[in-house]
Amino acid sequence: MNLWRRVWSRFSRDIGIDLGTANTLVHVRGKGVILREPSVVAVDRSNGSVLAVGAEAKRMLGRTPGSIEAVRPLKDGVIAEFDVAEVMLRHFLRRAHRRRALVHPTVVIGIPSGITEVERSAVRDAILRAGARDALLIEEPMAAAIGSNLPVSEPIGSMVVDIGGGTSEVAVIAMNGIVQGRSVRVAGDEMDQAIIAYMHHEFSLAIGSPTAERLKLEVGSVYPMNGQERVTVARGRDLLTGLPKAVEVTSEQIREAVMEPVRSIIEAIQMTLEETPPELAADIMERGIVLTGGGALLRGIDLRLHEETHMPVRVVEDPLACVVLGTGRVLEDLDRFAPVFSKC
Ligand code: ADP
Ligand code: MG
Repeated sequence: MNLWRRVWSRFSRDIGIDLGTANTLVHVRGKGVILREPSVVAVDRSNGSVLAVGAEAKRMLGRTPGSIEAVRPLKDGVIAEFDVAEVMLRHFLRRAHRRRALVHPTVVIGIPSGITEVERSAVRDAILRAGARDALLIEEPMAAAIGSNLPVSEPIGSMVVDIGGGTSEVAVIAMNGIVQGRSVRVAGDEMDQAIIAYMHHEFSLAIGSPTAERLKLEVGSVYPMNGQERVTVARGRDLLTGLPKAVEVTSEQIREAVMEPVRSIIEAIQMTLEETPPELAADIMERGIVLTGGGALLRGIDLRLHEETHMPVRVVEDPLACVVLGTGRVLEDLDRFAPVFSKC
């Protein structure tokens, strides 16, 4: 580590960020994960002002009047609304760094691997404009692998599957690089959309995406639950009468609803496995697939994946924080992890 950096790192609290499509997390060196908020910004379109950021803005999704809109700037794994994304980043960085506003941190940020070169440098510029001294970009699957303690620098193949909100990322990692990988725009959001469509045609019930997500979290599953099937109530608008209606929904029904998106994610994993060089495939067969991201919390996902791939499958301890923990670990040893940064 060069001397300048060593001196600086003593004074500044370096920051790791997971800029996810659904959630943004911030890790501060020496403190741990200090912020977990939905990647949502409430904007008043009539004058462009920002009304709320994070959890407060997410509560407004589907509930905003007229000109107010709750925007998810990274929805599909690309930065759809750059200005809004920048406002959000700046807001979270300010909150993370409030007490040390004068010290410019080094920021390591996890970005979806599907974003373009232009978006990468835009993210980098946004962080520098927010007051960082240095902004280092790392692809999310790489950060997830580091966050789950996989031996990313060694000549050993590891497979990480990160199922987020907008994208699922499948990556085979060895010797500091992604050897084989795929990013598909099918993940948690797509499951929510599938639940909306299912409620529509099975129950003639219109629901919004927050309700669909709640159903997925409460009773969702992707593998039979051995007599542990659950039931919950879905409320929405009856498409026939136009009036509010409530129906009971079971975990079997939600399982059927999310069948298609889950199948697409499994196919992405299978295709990546098929393209993996044999020595690395042998490592994965031995060491297993590691599941991260919010989608790793779907009940039965490990059993289902094991059944479909015949590989051992492991869900990490805190799937939602895995990427940000990886950025934190990278900051502790920038020299060692220098080769993993995404070039731009
Ligand atoms: P991103 O990295 O894209 O921001 P996250 O890793 O934060 O995404 O995961 C968010 C997704 O995970 C959302 O679609 C959310 O609904 C889903 N999710 C969170 N918890 C659960 C759970 N317990 N069961 C199923 N899905 C979940
Ligand atoms: Mg993520």
